[in-house]
Amino acid sequence: MTRHRLPEAVHCYIGLGSNVDRPRDHVLAAMDELHEVPNCRVVKRSSLYVSAAVGGPPQPDYINAVCTILCRAEARDLLRTLQEIERRHGRRRSQQVRYGPRTLDLDLLLYGDVELNEPGLIVPHPRIHERRFVLLPLSEIAPRLYIPGRGVVYKLLENEEIRQQRVVPAPARA
Ligand code: AMP
Repeated sequence: MTRHRLPEAVHCYIGLGSNVDRPRDHVLAAMDELHEVPNCRVVKRSSLYVSAAVGGPPQPDYINAVCTILCRAEARDLLRTLQEIERRHGRRRSQQVRYGPRTLDLDLLLYGDVELNEPGLIVPHPRIHERRFVLLPLSEIAPRLYIPGRGVVYKLLENEEIRQQRVVPAPARA
């Protein structure tokens, strides 16, 4: 029997966000669900952060986090898996306002050091370096991570525009 050889395990970084319907629960559950995906293990989780929504209509603050996964799936399959988890959390892209509120947003931030620019899939995610709600949790689990073409995470956080964005640790649950 010939078996399809899976790629070597790759360290990937996933950004998570939610601002609807118990957002903290969506983000925490999504990390657990990722850990259950075949060929995928969550190996590091940031803590939770609260951030003001960027763009879009007036809406509640977001809960954000980042996790590292060790993954043997191809990048395109991993993105499909992320979208499937979003759907399970009630995300309906067709009814969605651009940058509007969302039950769960999962971004493939980095897939090892691979760079892709294909229809529907760009890695590294093109907006990592502009978003404190990504960089701050990332700095907790991988401060010296190099974002190809952009720089090292902890250095990117020193940028004046990034420093002005409001992102704070989420308070402990009451
Ligand atoms: P959003 O509504 O912000 O979650 O954007 C999702 C869209 O971005 C989908 O159509 C994806 O195919 C596309 N996309 C491109 N690159 C990525 C990536 N690295 N991670 C997540 N979505 C991506």
